[in-house]
Order: sequence, then C-alpha cells, then structure tokens
Amino acid sequence: MIRPMKKQKRIALVAHDHKKHDLIEWAKFNLESLRKHEILATGTTGKFLEEELKLKVTRLQSGPLGGDQQLGAKISENEIDVLIFFWDPLEPQPHDPDVKALLRIAVVWNIPIANNRSSADFIFSSPLMKEEYPRIVPDYNNYLKREIE
Ligand code: PGA
Repeated sequence: MIRPMKKQKRIALVAHDHKKHDLIEWAKFNLESLRKHEILATGTTGKFLEEELKLKVTRLQSGPLGGDQQLGAKISENEIDVLIFFWDPLEPQPHDPDVKALLRIAVVWNIPIANNRSSADFIFSSPLMKEEYPRIVPDYNNYLKREIE
C-alpha cells in the first residue's frame, strides 16, 4: 500500500531533557526549512521550540505524560510523515515503554526516523523533503487475516 507524503511534511520533533539543547540547535540551523513544514512536538520540546525559535508548533502532552503515545497514535493514523526523536542513551526514562512503542510504531508504518543530529541532517538534506514521496506501507493483510486458534 502506498501512503503518499506531500511536499509539505508533518514533522514530529521530540527530545529527552539532556538532548533538548541539541535539538534546539539543530532546529535553529534548519529553521528556514522547518518553517515550510507542519511541526508537532511533545509538550516541553514544543515549548522550547516556540519560545526560543518562535516556531509554530502543535504541542501534545509532555512525553512522560502521554505525548509519545499520542505521537504513536498519529503515526498509525497517517498524521505524521517524519519523526525526529533525540532520545538519551545515557539516562533511564520513566516512560521507557512509551519510547520503545513510539520507535516501534514508526518502523511498523515505515516513516523516516532520525535519532541523532547526523541522521536528522541526512534526512533534511534529502531532496525528498521537498518532493512528494510515495511511502510504501508493508502489507499487513496476512497478519490481519491470521487464524486464531
Ligand atoms: P517532552 O517529552 O518534550 O515533554 O520533554 C519528551 C519525551 O520524553 O518524550
């Protein structure tokens, strides 16, 4: 199944606390291109983006309060095209299962994910960011039709 992405992407931005500085710097560097897209973010990340960069952001709940799960739901409902998620590899998170679930659902629906700055740079410098893109969603029909004994 093809899920077309438009030229204007719906981009989710999330960063754990020790990675927020990194994400803001990255976003500052890419501000001009970010403004061309629609931005969603978990609560605190979104607040920083609004206050420090004056970026227009749809803010969800803070990650540990359900924001990661809201993003996962939006991905499965085809409301997010790209996930930029700077998670912290050195700090245990109270909402670790939600983090894992978000990363998992992004793979289930085959959306591009960047988990660090260099990956985000590679995604953002791709010509596909400025074009329509026929995203292939794996065929889950066999799974849906599986026999339950
Ligand atoms: P926050 O959530 O932007 O509200 O801090 C991020 C997260 O931990 O998922």
